[in-house]
Amino acid sequence: MLASRTSHFVESVIRDMTRLSLKHNAINLAQGFPDFPAPLELKRAAASAIMDDYNQYSITWGAKDLRDEISRKAREYNHIDADPDTQITLTCGSTEAMMATMLALINEGDEAIIFEPFYENYGPDAAVSGAVPRFVPLNDDNSINEDALYSAFNNKTRVLILNTPNNPCGKVFTRGEMKMIADLCADNDVIAVTDEIYEYILYDNKKHISIGSLEDMKDRTITISGFSKTYSVTGWRIGYALAEKELSSAIRKVHDFLTVGAPAPLQHACVTALRFPDSYYKELAAMYDGKRKFLFDALIKSGFKCKEPEGAYYILADLPDGVKMDDMEFAKYMVREVGVAAVPGSSFYKSEAGKHKLRFTFSKKDETLKEAARRLTHLNV
Ligand code: PLP
Repeated sequence: MLASRTSHFVESVIRDMTRLSLKHNAINLAQGFPDFPAPLELKRAAASAIMDDYNQYSITWGAKDLRDEISRKAREYNHIDADPDTQITLTCGSTEAMMATMLALINEGDEAIIFEPFYENYGPDAAVSGAVPRFVPLNDDNSINEDALYSAFNNKTRVLILNTPNNPCGKVFTRGEMKMIADLCADNDVIAVTDEIYEYILYDNKKHISIGSLEDMKDRTITISGFSKTYSVTGWRIGYALAEKELSSAIRKVHDFLTVGAPAPLQHACVTALRFPDSYYKELAAMYDGKRKFLFDALIKSGFKCKEPEGAYYILADLPDGVKMDDMEFAKYMVREVGVAAVPGSSFYKSEAGKHKLRFTFSKKDETLKEAARRLTHLNV
């Protein structure tokens, strides 16, 4: 007999598309991980940490030197004050930070507001923790539908999940939007749980704002981020949650019994990452900007309709005119016949709106993107 909570979600479609892509020898623009090397200095730091014998459990909520560095980074970049001793928890990726947070906050039947389109993990996060998701669709131009947001709040609302920059649509929430969300959270005694994993991948001078830096939100925000995307180390599984003391203590308890701790030598190497100069972050964003433009042009030329994202490293595209297949059929057709893997749009929507979309990542080497573009010219619909 299986627990009913597992019947409320399916295996990740994103990771399923990766498996299909391998089977058909396709270019994998489905899963958001780089196919280029991680920074050499970081790899050396990880190797040294192992050789220096950082090989046993670290403190459950994370190595002290890394929490100290995260506290500094949070103050300087996110404008959030987080005491390293009581307000920072290192986790196995931001994925675990999100799940541990939900398990720490949710009582069965509490509601979680989630903007649509959303990162596919949030559905299972809600299902496992017992939350009822309340999806609030963004407008077609990705602005917030204020009426829909107001009416989503009620006396069962416990958390609002906010992902900025957003995967899949690339929206970067503005300060004005944050203010509106913050007011609603404060009025309704709701906690904001943020996913800021793409906080350094921004284009066209967009600025990353952490809602936890807004005065009213200091004690009612869990700010989640990690090292996967900023430092191209998605396999290291190091993330973290910043939260007010009592909230942190509940998250730490859940985290302890879920995983005991994040990988110790890699936590040590992440200290090196946080000491990279400012130029590292500028170069990272500039590199992805070039890839964004390249993939955008390739998609437009092959008939997709899309906007350039403001942040993160995905393009959410409408299928070319004349395509009769739905997103799932078309994604499978693309892997088999065109040799390019993307994610069916319905993975990011509760509503039907995703059924005519695919999500492509551009977190790949230029040569990978060029080969994908060449294959896309053979798309014949
Ligand atoms: N959050 C978002 C919005 C993502 O797109 C991803 C990965 O694609 C993650 C979290 C996973 O992050 P981590 O590797 O830190 O678990």
